[in-house]
Amino acid sequence: MLSVVEAETLILESVQAIGEIERVGLAACRNRILAAPIASNLDFPHWDNSAMDGYAVRFEDVKQPAILEIVEEIPAGYLPQKSIQPGQAARILTGSMMPAGADTVVMQENTQRQGDRVSILTPPPTQGSFVRYRGSYYQAGNPLLSPGAVLKAPEIAILAAAQCVEVPVFRRLRVAILSTGSELVTPDRPLQPGQIVDSNQYALEALVAEMGAEVISLGIICDEPAELKNAIATAVESADVVISSGGVSVGDYDYVDRILEELGAAIQIRSVAVKPGKPLTFATFPNSTLYFGLPGNPASVLVTFWRFAQPAIRKLSGLGQGWKPEFLSAIATQELKSDGKREFYLWGSVSISDGVLHFTPAGGSRLSGNLINLAGTNALGKMSIGQTHISPGETIQILKVS
Ligand code: AMP
Ligand code: MG
Repeated sequence: MLSVVEAETLILESVQAIGEIERVGLAACRNRILAAPIASNLDFPHWDNSAMDGYAVRFEDVKQPAILEIVEEIPAGYLPQKSIQPGQAARILTGSMMPAGADTVVMQENTQRQGDRVSILTPPPTQGSFVRYRGSYYQAGNPLLSPGAVLKAPEIAILAAAQCVEVPVFRRLRVAILSTGSELVTPDRPLQPGQIVDSNQYALEALVAEMGAEVISLGIICDEPAELKNAIATAVESADVVISSGGVSVGDYDYVDRILEELGAAIQIRSVAVKPGKPLTFATFPNSTLYFGLPGNPASVLVTFWRFAQPAIRKLSGLGQGWKPEFLSAIATQELKSDGKREFYLWGSVSISDGVLHFTPAGGSRLSGNLINLAGTNALGKMSIGQTHISPGETIQILKVS
């Protein structure tokens, strides 16, 4: 049985970012991952321009209060026609191009206009005041955005300004999901005694879809080896990642590991010293498809997905950073107990008060079959092997999961 850290290392070392690039329109690139470096052939700002509404002047002329002749009006988007000579100024508006000859802007508030003359009442502090110089934010040809960046509003603004209308992004991952178990029925079916509704399929689909991957829903596969083998073989051919739940324990009907071997997978992990989630299978196929065989219990599925599958999917998707789980310190609001034999993950909620994180575990039964108290989970609290007790007010390491 591997420790959590050994399992995590093994999984993440087996994963390399997907290399396949596609181009999508600027309007469709939100939340996608940039796949190639972006540079612009424009300087930012593109030309010297005014940071204020005011007057473009020669600093020489306004070191002391002065009266200047206004020779031109320069609204935004207008190409100045005149060069500013000694004793002259141009009316200029924010963002407008600086006229030749002028090197400084005097803000409107420090002036008084009479017809085609302007009095400079308060001299500007320095030469170049209120001028935004060409290339002062970015010079053409330098790196602008790096591969691996998630495209959110700030990056999309930059891409638009750089006129990058076709954005190179990694293709979306395809993740196949299936539920194993002859006792399972879909939520729309009347329940017979002994049957259980397949909730894992829907939970996993939601988790995977939230990550921006394409979901391939394979639904319920009963505990029948030939059928399961067929389903897994199809899934492995069509997906980058396959996630199944159930059937990885040591019960008589737990066939997943055996089938993976028959299909030529290298099984890297069969069991991890973690609670919930001890029976956890991770395998790699020669076509580089990753296989996560998660335990069947609903809480175990979520915990093992967040702890092991999600980071791997993030890394595979091409994310440059942030794919490795990062634990934060929080204050436990309640007494927490563990038998200390396996690394223990408590689902619960983290909140912030006075700038400090506080972790409250879900109330009620913490058995992995209980999905009723999963609602509101946004963090997992971790208790290490050997750690049996955390008192209220003590620190606990937590992993944010949403
Ligand atoms: P297994 O690992 O297949 O023995 O499943 C462990 C437990 O999880 C059993 O009680 C199953 O009925 C339950 N379980 C398995 N798959 C699902 C599922 N897709 N949705 C809800 N519960 C499940
Ligand atoms: Mg089962």
